[in-house]
Amino acid sequence: MRIARDLASAVGNTPLIRLRKASELTGCEILGKAEFMNPGQSVKDRAALFIIQDAVKRGLLKPGGTIVEGTAGNTGIGLALVGASMGFKTVIVIPETQSQEKKDMIRLAGAELVQVPAAPYKNPNNYVRYSGRLAEEMARTSDKGVIWANQFDNTANRQAHIETTGPEIWEQTGGKVDGFICAAGSGGTVAGVGMALQPKGVKVGLADPMGAALHSFYTTGEFKSEGDSITEGIGQGRITANLEGFTPDFSYQISDHEALPIVFDLLSEEGLVMGGSTGINVAGAIRMAKEMGPGHTIVTILCDYGNRYQSKLFNPEFLTAKGLPVPSWLDRAPASIP
Ligand code: PMP
Repeated sequence: MRIARDLASAVGNTPLIRLRKASELTGCEILGKAEFMNPGQSVKDRAALFIIQDAVKRGLLKPGGTIVEGTAGNTGIGLALVGASMGFKTVIVIPETQSQEKKDMIRLAGAELVQVPAAPYKNPNNYVRYSGRLAEEMARTSDKGVIWANQFDNTANRQAHIETTGPEIWEQTGGKVDGFICAAGSGGTVAGVGMALQPKGVKVGLADPMGAALHSFYTTGEFKSEGDSITEGIGQGRITANLEGFTPDFSYQISDHEALPIVFDLLSEEGLVMGGSTGINVAGAIRMAKEMGPGHTIVTILCDYGNRYQSKLFNPEFLTAKGLPVPSWLDRAPASIP
């Protein structure tokens, strides 16, 4: 029998999908780890599961306990769904500027949503700092346990990728994998898979969006950022605890102009409806394949499903206002019925 005990047990073991166009373009095998096939439709379900399991193991959460996190999206959805499946409540603190689709999805996933005005990290009312304080306050009056998930600096996050994503990639390719590359939000995915696969001789790359400072740090030793990106969930300006002890072998800075046509082609030519970070990842895989040369196998992450970006990534007005490319099929009016 192959029955998942509950939803939490259905996280992970995602397929590797060959990306036809990227492979043909480079003469390499470019493979996408289909993380959008997780129950919460993103790679963050793995981190959510490991963060919760770690808190339970350490006695910090008991049945009916509460998980608090400041997040703009996928981590909140993952924590809410996996948390509900394991018997926990979730409180998600979100900047009120985030898209309605994400707020709706987090509420639908069963979390209590606390909206705060958008503020930079140095402001104590920044959503991440607010969520840490809220967790502390709630913990004072709870006997079932309240944890702050703290995805950026809680290394249970990258442990998920050390123990599951990395080994899955190794097994699925029969060890025939030369490279792995992805972008960093918390850095859990790139560092965790890196730590699992670099000791086996796999080269690991970072694909950094504009506006992030990691590419500059890994190539010059200085945190500098320039430009901007509409991609959500990625783009880091510091070495989080999850990134500590990890160094990429390759690093590329990828613009939205390079990444978005890939997102649109994946949708119209390969049936893959992806979010923007997947475009950054696949663009990075193509750059790394060109640098390594034909004949290599390179794996990247298909991070999340595109429907949660309908009003931005797949909205011609939004793209035009940002000066970004609009694919012809997106611009077409719907066919009218005579
Ligand atoms: N893509 C998307 C859409 C995300 O939400 C995230 C996580 N915020 C990432 C990529 C990056 O994952 P990680 O936090 O493991 O670096």
